[in-house]
Amino acid sequence: MTIGRAPEDLDAVFLTHEHSDHIGGVGPLIRKHGIPLYATEGTVQAGEKLGNIPGLNTIRAGETIRVDGLEIEPYATAHDARESVAYVVRCQNRKLGHATDMGIVTHEVREKLKDSHVLLVESNHDVEMLDVGPYPWPVKQRIKGALGHLSNEACGDLLAAVSHEHLERVLLMHLSQTNNHPEIARVTALQALGSRTPHLDLARQDQPTELTEV
Ligand SMILES: [Zn+2]
Ligand SMILES: [Zn+2]
Repeated sequence: MTIGRAPEDLDAVFLTHEHSDHIGGVGPLIRKHGIPLYATEGTVQAGEKLGNIPGLNTIRAGETIRVDGLEIEPYATAHDARESVAYVVRCQNRKLGHATDMGIVTHEVREKLKDSHVLLVESNHDVEMLDVGPYPWPVKQRIKGALGHLSNEACGDLLAAVSHEHLERVLLMHLSQTNNHPEIARVTALQALGSRTPHLDLARQDQPTELTEV
């Protein structure tokens, strides 16, 4: 395994929503290794591709679940999926905040993510690259819309709003290969975080992300 972990070491898999870039391969993985799956009812219903799920745990936004000493709180996101969520994870006094696959950052998102030591935040597209890029007009509208994805600027605004002195690490996620450039995303995030810049990394589509200790 490229990240030094075997699939059978996984204690749980949490889904955010049913879009194919998020559930592809999940069904065979959890069935082969007997891994419990956590997902909202809407995600399971709309995610036909998941197939039969033996170890399904239905979750709901606002209801915290405990798995192996972790407190995992799903919260609702603005995305064009049936019942999408993002997650906040706590362990003792450590906190990880996650925000991907959402068209807008609401007050609730900022509230959920504040005081995190580690942040995983979507930096999907550069608005200009999306505008002049090859996607058909309706798809561009979808991505930019309130149920679409966060631009580099929106990501930067969110980071600026929730940054604090104990924020140690930021991982930019869900970057578009067509409508974004890693350096634009990086620079926008660095500018938003200002002088108190924590360790910043980018998740790539073509390679696994290094494991992060929280
Ligand atoms: Zn999606
Ligand atoms: Zn997605």
